[in-house]
Amino acid sequence: MALLYPRKIDLAQTPTPLQYLERASQKWGCGHRLWVKRDDLTGCTLSGNKVRKLEFITAHAIDNGYDTLLTCGGVQSNHCRATALAGAQLGLGVHLLLRGDAPGELDGNFLLDHLAGATVNCYDSAYFVREIDALFRQWQDHYGAQGHKAMVVPTGGSDGIGAWGYIAACEELLSDFSTAGIEQAHIVTATGSGGTQTGLTLGVALHQLPATVWGVNVCDNAQYFLDKVASDTADWQRLYPDAPAVAVEPRVLDGYVGQGYAIASQEVYELIGDLSRLEGLVLDPVYTGKAFAGMLAEIASGRFEGCRDIVFVHTGGIFGVFPQKSGFSRTVAAG
Ligand SMILES: *Cc1c(COP(=O)(O)O)cnc(C)c1O
Repeated sequence: MALLYPRKIDLAQTPTPLQYLERASQKWGCGHRLWVKRDDLTGCTLSGNKVRKLEFITAHAIDNGYDTLLTCGGVQSNHCRATALAGAQLGLGVHLLLRGDAPGELDGNFLLDHLAGATVNCYDSAYFVREIDALFRQWQDHYGAQGHKAMVVPTGGSDGIGAWGYIAACEELLSDFSTAGIEQAHIVTATGSGGTQTGLTLGVALHQLPATVWGVNVCDNAQYFLDKVASDTADWQRLYPDAPAVAVEPRVLDGYVGQGYAIASQEVYELIGDLSRLEGLVLDPVYTGKAFAGMLAEIASGRFEGCRDIVFVHTGGIFGVFPQKSGFSRTVAAG
């Protein structure tokens, strides 16, 4: 099946490695082999999953005459940081609308946003949730009045354009599977705005990758992500009517959000410490730490029985570790 991709701009260091976690498999695998797709290695400051989507999003922006990217997220958004840096690399203006009060300290992603020269506005959370659509329109009009053209990139870059990022990643996984001798696998990813899950779910179907994709939600609930994957898929089909029609079956592992988005439990901090020491692999407390914890709980409960291989997608997030440093105080031996 010939799949016609839209143009992309090479921003990500790909293909990323598929790495076997020997000691983690022994410790937590219950007979499964645990693998990690190292999408935390897509770049240094461009680390993580968002840059795969931005390869297609920035190409779309430039090909359609936009000179500015307007996007939004939490104060420590990885997506906003990646957009700020990609925009700077390509000579596009970047304006970030952030949910939450400005932190007293420049740290983590928020520091990198500023280093990359993005324009940053922070809004009170309740106001942001209520007014984000109006804010997008208002700033888009503002740029229009100045003779600029600003493209709105939705939360996480999750839409029909961004979906291509992980559709393309599934081609890498095809070749990874064959090198690693994986015949059938479960793929587990953190899901936050749904785009990575949408791309993987579509990509598995389009490329006939022998795998089942599971999103571990780090906010909202299962129904939210079933709907989000369906609507992102519909957006993709509407924008690219010549792409093959596929039926997608999104799957969500709910129950690991804890107290809420970006609030990790002590167990998650401890798991991050354990895995760092065991494998030299560092997860983040907002996304990958929670998703990995969810994956281990599902392994222990027998969810993946009958299938030897489990592939965890490490979607990045390293800069979210530092602003949450106080959470690790009980996990690391104090000097
Ligand atoms: C954004 C993000 C996710 C979730 O990806 P979505 O495509 O938004 O669902 C997972 N992990 C990290 C580190 C992220 O920054």
